Amino acid sequence: MIPRDTIDTIISTVRIEEVIGDFVVLRRRGVNMLGLCPFHNEKTPSFTVSPAKGIYKCFGCGKAGNAVNFIMEHEHFSYPEALKYLARKYNIEVEEEEQTPEQLQELNEKESLYNLNQFAQQFFSRTLLETNEGKAVGWSYLRERGIRDDIIQKFQLGFSPSAWDAFSQHAAKNGYKKEYLIKTGLSLEKENRLYDRFHSRIIFPIHSASGRVIGFGGRILSAEKTHAKYVNSPESEIYNKSKTLYGIFFAKNAIISKDNCYLVEGYTDVISLFQAGIENTVASSGTSLTLDQIRMIRRYTTNITILYDGDPAGIKASFRGIDMIVEQAMNVMIVLFPNGEDPDSFARKNHPDEVDRFIKENAVNFILFKTRLLLDETRNDPIKKAGLIKEIVNTIALIPDGISRSLYIHECSALMTVSEQVLMVEMNKILRARLKKSLKEEGSEENEIIPEPEVIAEPQKDFDTDSPGSQEQEIIRLLLLYGQDIIHLKMDNAADTGVPVMVADYVVHVLLRDEMVFENPVFGKIYEFYLDGVRKDAIPDRNFFLTHPDLELSQTAVNLVFSPYELSKNWYKNNILITTEESRLLLHVEHSIHAFRARKLEKMMTEIRRKLANAETAEEQTILMKQLGELKKQSIRINREGLGRIIIK
Ligand code: ATP
Ligand code: MN
Repeated sequence: MIPRDTIDTIISTVRIEEVIGDFVVLRRRGVNMLGLCPFHNEKTPSFTVSPAKGIYKCFGCGKAGNAVNFIMEHEHFSYPEALKYLARKYNIEVEEEEQTPEQLQELNEKESLYNLNQFAQQFFSRTLLETNEGKAVGWSYLRERGIRDDIIQKFQLGFSPSAWDAFSQHAAKNGYKKEYLIKTGLSLEKENRLYDRFHSRIIFPIHSASGRVIGFGGRILSAEKTHAKYVNSPESEIYNKSKTLYGIFFAKNAIISKDNCYLVEGYTDVISLFQAGIENTVASSGTSLTLDQIRMIRRYTTNITILYDGDPAGIKASFRGIDMIVEQAMNVMIVLFPNGEDPDSFARKNHPDEVDRFIKENAVNFILFKTRLLLDETRNDPIKKAGLIKEIVNTIALIPDGISRSLYIHECSALMTVSEQVLMVEMNKILRARLKKSLKEEGSEENEIIPEPEVIAEPQKDFDTDSPGSQEQEIIRLLLLYGQDIIHLKMDNAADTGVPVMVADYVVHVLLRDEMVFENPVFGKIYEFYLDGVRKDAIPDRNFFLTHPDLELSQTAVNLVFSPYELSKNWYKNNILITTEESRLLLHVEHSIHAFRARKLEKMMTEIRRKLANAETAEEQTILMKQLGELKKQSIRINREGLGRIIIK
């Protein structure tokens, strides 16, 4: 448990733009900052950060929250983990209160899997560096491959002993449950006994973007073909292959600073390039690139360079995948290594400067690369060439940006000796067909059209036609935005000077008097805090909600506060334009309360009418009729009071 005042210190110290800036490239836009949303796939930035309010919101996918929420969501951290992460970032000391055994037990499952992986990683590292077998077999192999000790340390490479169950035994002795050993895939069960999945293999821990060990790859040492060269952890709650890039944790800073991400095939390529000083490298490890992986790279850069070993068949097979990257508005370059070489072997044979130079000098734009490669194959076959034109134009049409599209049309027309006009006509056909298709699909879930950011919301004037809940929302929004503002109330028969009250105070009193309750549980929860605050004469401020540990609550608060919302400038009362801010606020408060109560009453009356229709005894009917009469009276009173009850100073 982290003490409350430490939490407060953390929350008041963090700067949201710095926290998010570690993961998203943000650009200033007025008072806010704008970037590409890390939580969904988008091409135009709609992820907005408000440094002043300490909150973020994506107008594309709706994700919103404060700095703590961001870290929780983005890094899949628990609340205390996120706080600890932020504390580390800002050098705030966290003295944890002791955990009870119950609390320890409550450590959720994910946490247990992470813990076990970390434990395993440490075991494998120690085995590699400190045991005779590890040193003689594992370490000497790595040394033979030319991997330096500092790189072994950095990537936390390890060795799993050749005994069948050395790790499983060791873990069991240390209290790790069989359930988790199997879920992480570190152990396999056969006839009620546990065996080590990775025994006698070199271990490559796989890290999440934030550096936690989520899985492992293990390479066999012997050259015999009876066993797979590599085995990998199975998917688990913490390891999703299609969302993981090997090396991302070590590469992310270099990717940002070089504004480019190198993509290679596997563990050894990443490690050898890193050792050669080329640190902006990640691998998709075994699988072909997924959309999630592209998205992950896009958090840091829009430039991606794919490093291939020179096998044309493999390259052609990957064109589809690369088209997907192009479609994400990423700028894709291709580097082809000399035949028979992969980045790993090339980096081992050449001086680091030479490797760096080779990559830079040989990087070719993907579309031109594809054009050239396919062109080579068509020779002078006109039918094949027509197919090629279609294929290339198809790829160019994927580029979201029109200017880039015309540039490629221009270059490819020269390469293929086809007029630009012909390519343009072909491309427009594709674009039109696609547009048609996307219009048809509109409304389907895959539709990716990003809604425009909300425009200024007018306070509600139309009381009855609004969707249920919107009046409740309006009251809560009002409380969050203006709860602590002062308004002056002047009752009909009161003395001349108005009575100063806080908006929250006023709202709560009116709602209490009419015994109004909230149906929406989250709004209800927020309202309870105001109710309590009014009772204790300590009305919570907005930050209390924005930084509340209850995620649902804080997200709701952020969403309500974030919308660029203004009091309407066009309020009239008795045909007089209301000009002062306070008067407008007061009118707005009145309107919102009125709408809220009118809606509630209406609902209650509907309910009673329904019961009345089903009432079986005369007695029952009388009671219901009476209740209905009461409500009608109340409704008339409320409508009469409407806006007239309060006189504005
Ligand atoms: P060699 O010394 O024979 O070149 P290697 O360890 O470099 O062996 P390669 O066969 O060259 O392995 O494969 C290149 C990369 O592809 C490896 O670094 C590895 O990360 C990745 N790879 C190969 N097979 C698998 C697999 N089954 N699962 C995950 N990654 C794999
Ligand atoms: Mn290799």
